[in-house]
Formats: sequence, structure tokens, C-alpha cells
Amino acid sequence: MLIPQSSPRIALKAPFLSIWLSLSVITDCVVHPYVYPREAVPNDTLRIIALGTGVPSIFKSQAATSYLLQLGSNERNILFDVGTGSIANLYATRVSLSTIDKVFISHAHSDHITDLAPLYALANGRPGPLQVWGPSGASEATGIAAIVEGLRQFLAWDQEARNKVMGREKGQPQNAIIAHQFDHNVTNQVIYEQDGIRITSTPVFHYATPGPVALRLDWNNISITFSGDTIPLQSFLDLGSGSDVVLHETVGPRNSFHLQDPTTRNILLNHTSQSEVGAIFQKLQPRLAIATHLSINEYSIVPILSGIRSTYPTGPLAIAQDFAVWDVSPSAVSQRKFVPVTTSAGYEFANPCPAQHDLEVDDDGDWPRAAVACCAAAMTGA
Ligand SMILES: [Zn+2]
Repeated sequence: MLIPQSSPRIALKAPFLSIWLSLSVITDCVVHPYVYPREAVPNDTLRIIALGTGVPSIFKSQAATSYLLQLGSNERNILFDVGTGSIANLYATRVSLSTIDKVFISHAHSDHITDLAPLYALANGRPGPLQVWGPSGASEATGIAAIVEGLRQFLAWDQEARNKVMGREKGQPQNAIIAHQFDHNVTNQVIYEQDGIRITSTPVFHYATPGPVALRLDWNNISITFSGDTIPLQSFLDLGSGSDVVLHETVGPRNSFHLQDPTTRNILLNHTSQSEVGAIFQKLQPRLAIATHLSINEYSIVPILSGIRSTYPTGPLAIAQDFAVWDVSPSAVSQRKFVPVTTSAGYEFANPCPAQHDLEVDDDGDWPRAAVACCAAAMTGA
């Protein structure tokens, strides 16, 4: 059992027993259910794209934790975590890696940081260095500064060779990575404030290992608070107070089979259950509640929803799945699904079809017939 007697887990009791099983309840109607690559973000809107919503064991259907936050129309892109597999999903959105230079890390578990490697290695044309904000650890070796230095060493040969291919000089800002380490143990600490964007951290509790934090972003009178990985805590309720969007982890569903295994029991007891996350949503009453860090399939979805709805019976709720997209403006919230481009972009180098042909998606959302026809014609010389 890893939780010490001093575990700060707060007790959250169920106020209701009713169970709702709707997949999601969002506050506003949506005209079109899909988002296609390169759709502009409205000026006043925070767009949240789920690049990874699952657990450390990744699957084709779910990468590990990562959320792309797009702030208005000027390609102001911020990543909250960059877990295993998430950069493949980023490629599939056609958001260029070179437009991302700010990553905020909740904690250094592999399912939250591993894809820093491709994000750092593969962005050609990023105008400045990749900047990574993250918490200190119990020792110098476990803080984000040492971790980023380790990544730089891990990719030293890659960068030396890639510099030759790209015609870059070593030390140019485009191929640099910089760590901004902050003290993990400071409550409600502003760790970034620039251009109307403020990001605040507060410590959370995860496997009794110093370092994990929750993060809150405020911009344009819109806010999102992200739990990272944690048990239920008063510090998160304080950070998330008044937040438009509450994005909170939950692991499970729990059942007697899981709890018989000591390792699985430790995992479950160092995260947040569905009834607990529902109670957090119920206390904070956000405009949009998102449950994340779940393995979603046809068997798990019903007990997951039942558990959350046992304590959060009626509020706006989404169960995060990869490629979910939420647009949050001061006056509206919508949920849609991204139509990812899941095949290689290589054909774009090899044929004369217009670059935007992957936007020409059929009415039913299938792979674009117009693009296929165009490429076929190009290859046959027609
Ligand atoms: Zn995790």
C-alpha cells in the first residue's frame, strides 16, 4: 500500500443516487459534428483537442495523456502533457509541430512526457526553441531540468545528423530545447504569464512521490484546470474554483477483481475513482467537465458513466476520447470530433494534387473521394 497515513485524500460523498447514462451533455447545440484539418479557431475561442486520453498501456484507439490548447486564431498553441503516442495524433490533425513551442508537464510519468522526444526531434522550421515547463522532483535528478537534459543527450546523434540534412548549425534556436523548472510544492503558483495567458500550478498527490502538479490556464476570460494524475484533493478544488473547463483524471472502473491484485489496487488508490471525480465536478460546477485517463471500450463505458453520474447527475459531461474537440468561448461550449488524416503525408511530396485536398471530405466523413481521384489521375498521367 503506497498511500501513507498522511494521505491528503479528501472524502467526497455521493449527494444523489440517480444514474444518467448519456454519453455527454454539452451546453450548446452543434451545427456540424466534425472538425477537419486546418479549420480556423475563432478569435475569442479556446479550442481543446484531445491528442491522448488513455493510460500508460497505449492502444491504436487511445494514446496517453496530451491536450492541445489553441488560443484564438494566431496559432498560439500550448500542450498540456505529451504522453506516449500523442504526437502521431498531432500529425493526424495537420497542426504543424513547428507551431508548438510551449509544453507544460504535470508530472514526469512516461504516459505524460514520452512524446517530448519526437516533438523535439522532428519540428522543422520552429522559429525558436522548444520550451518545457515542469515541476522539480525530490532530487535534482528527478526534476524537469535534468529530464530535459537527458532527452537532449538521448537525441544527440539524431540532432547532429539531422542538422546536416536540414542545413542547420548546431546551437541554432530551432534545434534547442529549454527547461523552465518550477518548485512543485508551491500552492497556486503562477509559472507563466505573457500575452494575456496565465498558467498556474498547485501540488497534487500521486504515489507519494514529490513532483506532480495540477495546471490551470487563464486566457480571454476563459479558464481550464487540468488535474494531471492525483487522488481527490482540496488543493485541486481551490485551483479549479470558477474554472470554465475542469479536466480531471479518473482511473477504473473499480471492481472486486481489480482490488484483489495488490499492484492494481495501488494504482487505483493513487488515482481518482469515477464517483470521486463526479463529486469534484459537482462541487466545481464547470461549464464543461471532462473525465480523462480512462481505457474506453464498449464494456467500460457504462460503468464509467454510471460511476460519474452517481455523484454528478446532470451537469455538462464529456468522457474524453482521442480526437475529441471542444470549442469554449465566453458565451458557448461545443463538442465535436476531429476527422484525422491517418495515412502518411508522403504523397504530398510526390504528386501535384493541391495541398488542401485532404480537406475535401465526403459528407459522411469518409476519406475524400476527390483527393483519391486527383491522386489516381496524377499517377496515371490523366
Ligand atoms: Zn498517467
